[in-house]
Amino acid sequence: MNSKRIVVIGGGISGLALAHRISELSRELGIPARVTVLEAGPRLGGVICSQKKGEFLFELGPDSFISEKPEVTRLAKRLGFENQLISTQDEYRQSYIVRSGKLIPVPKGLYLLAPTDLKAFLASPLVSWAGKLRMASEYLIPSKTDLEDESLGQFVRRRFGREALRWIGEPMVAGIYSADPERLSLEATFPRFREMEREYGSILRGFQKKLSESAKTKSPIRQILSEASGPRYSLFLSFRDGMSTLVDQLVRHSQAVSFRLNTRVELIRRSDEVWNIGLESKETLQADSVCLALPAHQAGLLVSSFDAGLSQLLNDIPYESVATVNVAVRRDAIRRPIRGFGFVVPRAEKRRLIGCTFSNMKFGGRAPESHMILRAFVGGVFQRELLQKSDQAIESAVFRDLSELLEIDGEPEDVVIRRAPKSMPQYEVGHLARVARIEEKARRHPHFYLTGNAFHGIGLPDCVREAEKTAELVMAQSVEDPATPSLESRSFA
Ligand SMILES: Cc1cc2nc3c(=O)[nH]c(=O)nc-3n(C[C@H](O)[C@H](O)[C@H](O)COP(=O)(O)OP(=O)(O)OC[C@H]3O[C@@H](n4cnc5c(N)ncnc54)[C@H](O)[C@@H]3O)c2cc1C
Repeated sequence: MNSKRIVVIGGGISGLALAHRISELSRELGIPARVTVLEAGPRLGGVICSQKKGEFLFELGPDSFISEKPEVTRLAKRLGFENQLISTQDEYRQSYIVRSGKLIPVPKGLYLLAPTDLKAFLASPLVSWAGKLRMASEYLIPSKTDLEDESLGQFVRRRFGREALRWIGEPMVAGIYSADPERLSLEATFPRFREMEREYGSILRGFQKKLSESAKTKSPIRQILSEASGPRYSLFLSFRDGMSTLVDQLVRHSQAVSFRLNTRVELIRRSDEVWNIGLESKETLQADSVCLALPAHQAGLLVSSFDAGLSQLLNDIPYESVATVNVAVRRDAIRRPIRGFGFVVPRAEKRRLIGCTFSNMKFGGRAPESHMILRAFVGGVFQRELLQKSDQAIESAVFRDLSELLEIDGEPEDVVIRRAPKSMPQYEVGHLARVARIEEKARRHPHFYLTGNAFHGIGLPDCVREAEKTAELVMAQSVEDPATPSLESRSFA
């Protein structure tokens, strides 16, 4: 049987999970495949980057993933490194929202916007009494009847009021998507809310129903909902040595895959039933299948030579740039008592920070007892101009905000900044319809595949899920190819 030449372009988590799953299926199903990953940069992992520096472990990209979506955990189990998974430290399970320069604890039971613990919510100074009343009246707001997508901002204002959007919805969403809630698609980012509104006529009623159902069945969902204090801070997992473990383990278990670093692809074109892949070095590679695991703007560039319409649709997905600034300070230099996973900052506070994780409270083993790692998050749609500045200027702006909010004396002991230019796709209203058009066009090109964080979720579990689904499709279509003997009886599930 001829060995299929499969080229994966992009060595971030999407490309690595894709290449790994293809080689796994190739082995399991006895379909010979030669898989090559082409990565433009000098290292694998894309935006994932954990850095060990002295006694500190800095996360310069993602620091965790949501365990509710099982794909990363499942992968860790399958590859035998689940013993490296670590949970957040329960004793610090609290997050904050900044209001008037103060860190206000997110009330217990607040699930993104829905207060599921009324007592805790009423006692919180986060929103005014008028705001609380408006949020509580969500029960009475008639539900939207049409099926049109709407923005998250519109949805939150419509159901919970302006204050809820300003002090809760918008900062939490900025912390996840670096996005403007007025443009963000509800359907693509929080479909659960949309479904609840349709099913129960109210989000609060929906949560109440789910809580009482789970109480009857003694399901852990009750605990999850009643203890959660915001999506970024509940039920997150990481790895003992940082998120780069995921990258290292995938590479370790992909022995049959060739990795080429510093290999930027400039052009792809199909002729004589073969994909020709033009590299920056002017070398041309040939492949039977080509998989793009790239940000949409990069994929858009590569497909422009053979499908202008597809290229346009890919380029239409907007991206924002972000940066993390890891700041190590002595604990005794922080005068405000802090105990939690971190905080988010509403835009109304006019700060440079979008949010900050207290890294070594969220996860153990990241810093000596005497120190704190403050992992600040900046950039996004509302701070484009900040990222135009020098690293030093960004670091100073971040430290100024941190010093004021946490009352820090003196200077930081270490600061590590990392930029992630055009890394955050913005799922704007109508996103899913655009993605459906992209997928429909992509399907017209034989043995051509798209995956990555631009389409069906930006979280790491989403990237792994989509990459693995793509791998299964690649292998299924390799089998369907008349040049390869049929393996109909074999399962790709
Ligand atoms: C700062 C930050 C924090 C985040 N925090 C979290 C978090 O805590 N939890 C979570 O679940 N998610 C988080 N995310 C989101 C998540 O990390 C990303 O969505 C995911 O890692 C994207 O992976 P990817 O492989 O699709 O893309 P990328 O990581 O962007 O990888 C794409 C790769 O393609 C390469 N490439 C580009 N062009 C070419 C070319 N022409 N030829 C060859 N190679 C090319 C790039 O060099 C890059 O390595 C965060 C994202 C950022 C930026």
